[in-house]
Amino acid sequence: MARRRQIYEGKAKVLFEGPEPGTLVQYFKDDATAFNNKKKGTITGKGVLNNRISEYLMIKLGEIGIPTHFVRRLNMREQLVREVEIIPLEVVVRNISAGSLAQRFGLSEGTPLPRSIVEYYFKSDALGDPMVAEEHITAFGWATTQDIDELMSMSLRVNDFLTGLFLGVGIRLVDFKLEFGRLYNGDDMQIVLADEISPDNCRLWDLKTGEKMDKDRFRRDLGNVEDAYQEVARRLGILPEGGPRDLKGPEMMQ
Ligand code: C5P
Repeated sequence: MARRRQIYEGKAKVLFEGPEPGTLVQYFKDDATAFNNKKKGTITGKGVLNNRISEYLMIKLGEIGIPTHFVRRLNMREQLVREVEIIPLEVVVRNISAGSLAQRFGLSEGTPLPRSIVEYYFKSDALGDPMVAEEHITAFGWATTQDIDELMSMSLRVNDFLTGLFLGVGIRLVDFKLEFGRLYNGDDMQIVLADEISPDNCRLWDLKTGEKMDKDRFRRDLGNVEDAYQEVARRLGILPEGGPRDLKGPEMMQ
């Protein structure tokens, strides 16, 4: 790791210069933060699991025609991605009331929404990622109306696909957050899915028991965080061969 140039360090990931121009290496850490950095911790093995889960979901989404930044997984904690210009928005899709939506509108958690709701937040740690309307996005030049249409339709396709995929393994996709970036090819610009999709940025509830299998276990001190992430990977049939702690462990083999 020491020989590579670090481009960016986020809360859960580090980006390094990639082996070829236009690529980056995305390294998944075990660090966890919540409530805009007010709560910090480590979830042992999380980086390994999220690297694998995100790889799997990005490949599946690629297969249905969603363009993504993902190129290939390099090792237990790293994946090669295309370098994109990140659009400074967090796109949240919700199917069931939970988290900040439940709080904002006084809904009890678990209420199915009349239809999927797409929300936009401005990516800014300093401001605590404020929710924004299309008006702010276009007025401040973060994206055009046409870009927003594309973000919305891609996010809803991702939602439909992932809802079905998780339902197939007994998991309810309650809500999730996506990030997008711009890829330039001469005069052409393509918006692609970026960042990661993992239990760090999805709410995943067990279909039968309603048990939380995502970062809310960390946010709300529910315990067994790593076990929950591991169970998501296990159900998807992708538990890392060496186990999430980078150890070779025959009990972890598929
Ligand atoms: O907190 P809230 O209810 O708005 O979160 C909605 C969804 O977006 C959750 O799945 C959460 O994990 C994700 N999220 C995220 N990063 C943020 C804010 C929310 O991944 N900064």
